[in-house]
Amino acid sequence: MRIGQAIDIHQLVENRDLILGGVKIEHEKGLLGHSDADVLLHAIAEAIIGALGLGDLGTHFPDTDEKYKGISSMILLAEVEKLMVNHNYEIGNIDSTILIEEPKLVKYKEEMEKNIAEVLKCDVSQVNVKATRGEKLGFVGEKKGVAALATVVLKEREKVEYVHI
Ligand code: ZN
Repeated sequence: MRIGQAIDIHQLVENRDLILGGVKIEHEKGLLGHSDADVLLHAIAEAIIGALGLGDLGTHFPDTDEKYKGISSMILLAEVEKLMVNHNYEIGNIDSTILIEEPKLVKYKEEMEKNIAEVLKCDVSQVNVKATRGEKLGFVGEKKGVAALATVVLKEREKVEYVHI
């Protein structure tokens, strides 16, 4: 078994969609970033890369690369899934927390977990998404940004298979 953790932070700005866990959230602002800035998927993807001992998300998907401009982070996470399989690991479980002042994410949580489980080819029971507020403190509480934390446990796969990236 291997364990990985990660944190990601993006700025909240006007004229951007708010995408979390591959779900478009109704909100007047969105997250700024080179890709769709899905802070939750970035944290999960980076935690998997960390568990594999392969550095960070930026090394694998540089934000200077035009091919990642505006890209859905679901695609980045799918690439990380291939990387994980090629290293002969699969998801044990994922726990994650989104730090966001508003809106409330309760109604989106199930869809986020379903999206993540689908891309990572695991059961939805292996994925947990939580959200907490900043209580008006710091960049989260002041609605200047959103952060996400993820912890991932990977299990060694019994059968070796290779997926071409
Ligand atoms: Zn990010």
